Amino acid sequence: MRDKCGLVVGVANKRSISWAIAHAASAAGARLAITYQGERLEENVRELCGSLADPLVLPLDVTDAAQITRVFEEVDRSFGGLDFVVHGAAFATRDDLINPFVQTSRDGFKLAMDVSAYSLIALSRAALPLMEKKGGGSILTLTYLGSARVFETYRVMGVAKAALEATVRYLAADLGPKNIRVNAISAGPIKTVAAAGIPGFSSVLQIYRDRAPLRRTVDTSEVADAAVFLLSDAARAVTAEVLMVDGGFHATGM
Ligand code: NAP
Repeated sequence: MRDKCGLVVGVANKRSISWAIAHAASAAGARLAITYQGERLEENVRELCGSLADPLVLPLDVTDAAQITRVFEEVDRSFGGLDFVVHGAAFATRDDLINPFVQTSRDGFKLAMDVSAYSLIALSRAALPLMEKKGGGSILTLTYLGSARVFETYRVMGVAKAALEATVRYLAADLGPKNIRVNAISAGPIKTVAAAGIPGFSSVLQIYRDRAPLRRTVDTSEVADAAVFLLSDAARAVTAEVLMVDGGFHATGM
């Protein structure tokens, strides 16, 4: 990753999957811009970024077009282009995660889709001119198996992840001729702030321990190692892919 510059979106704290990816990419030599959502997270994220080499730390709410423009202008000014983007933002309202799926509200559906799926299109569009300067790039998002199978408590987030994975394929087709690759990692369940919002999350972890071929859950460093592969030139022929990093759970049936 030496000589590569990347933008990482979705760091809340040291347990965030995006933070593990930032840490691993930085250790592999990349220079990074890290964003945080809202003043509430600023101090914590700035403190974490103290361990990175010369990071750019910026606020970004992915639903705010003006903030997206500002972040990419700042990144371009500082890095003179961009090699990769990590998209680790997702959100659904508490009500839409605890009520029966049939009760999903229209506003909650729109918000989950906007933050968790549409934002990948918005970030990719903003990244395009910066990646063209570098002759290509790699865009990576994070998804979950609830996109394709019903995990009862995942609800509207499962629908948003289905849209996100389809978005990966359409973006990959659109941007491939410019040598920009677009992929997702489908991670097994990991205890993070976002995961804490999913009802019954601890029992989901136990089911993975019982049934996944590797008989265990995964941790953020394992997702990060796979991410560094997808962001690097080692994956230069890989695009439109959803890479499962879940101990093999996705392959199991009865
Ligand atoms: P996390 O640490 O809570 O990260 C999610 C991040 O998204 C938070 O920093 C959150 O900020 C941010 N976010 C929410 N709304 C945003 C907005 N409008 N603009 C910008 N950022 C926003 O949790 P995580 O588990 O690492 O999640 C990262 C990604 O991995 C998500 O896409 C998640 O769905 C996916 N994933 C997680 C698991 C798992 O089990 N943990 C498994 C598979 C996939 P706030 O804290 O301010 O809301």
